[in-house]
Amino acid sequence: MSSHIQRATELVAEAESVVVLTGAGMSAESGVPTFRDAQTGLWQRFAPEQLATEEAFRANPSMVWTWYVWRAMLVDSVDPNAGHHAIGTWQQHLAARDGSLTVATQNVDDLHERGGAQDVLHLHGSLHSYRCLECGTPGTFDPASTGITADQDFDHETFVPTVHCDHCELGVLRPNVVWFGESLPEQAFAAAVSALQQAQLVVVVGSSGLVQPAASLPLIAHEAGASLIEINPAATTLSDTADIYIPSTAAVALPELLADIV
Ligand SMILES: [Zn+2]
Repeated sequence: MSSHIQRATELVAEAESVVVLTGAGMSAESGVPTFRDAQTGLWQRFAPEQLATEEAFRANPSMVWTWYVWRAMLVDSVDPNAGHHAIGTWQQHLAARDGSLTVATQNVDDLHERGGAQDVLHLHGSLHSYRCLECGTPGTFDPASTGITADQDFDHETFVPTVHCDHCELGVLRPNVVWFGESLPEQAFAAAVSALQQAQLVVVVGSSGLVQPAASLPLIAHEAGASLIEINPAATTLSDTADIYIPSTAAVALPELLADIV
């Protein structure tokens, strides 16, 4: 075991309050394509802004629904990796000892939850939740009911029926993801900041594509005195600030770091 892995293992063993902050690399390792990598076939004709704005949704809801339903089905077709499972087990381990581990992710999939983590803070929303376009009330919708499948190739959008809000009955449901030009979910972001300010250890994983304001989160914790471990295959702007930078992936490095726990 190299010395920096050894030191990281010691930090993991000592920490009672932990935040794990994850980005697209964590999901990519499970086979979830990034937004842009998912833009094959029909979808490559569109700029991301044409699929991920309220304006696009209002102009062509069936197109935008089809894109999001298909991506939800893609996520359903893959499994959490060893890194997701390690984080879930670590959280349970700390909870049993009056400690805490908060997972904050930029990912819109549910792989952390399926890997055993609870109360995951989805900073960019979720492919598996829906809310009213007008009043924001959460609503239910089953993407599998559309018949869209993960292995489908599209040459046109598939009609997805309009689902009206149960609360205001005027609005329709929309995917509960953060679109271009929208703010991050206030509650999730505030909860992440609060956890980071109290954390002894922050582990940033698979986050080479962290975008603002989430990109500033590890620095909040570092300035508040937390130790910072970064796990990314390639160095990032954070690597010089991190106490320990591990050039690896979540599924490889996390089980190794947590070998005494998970
Ligand atoms: Zn409504």
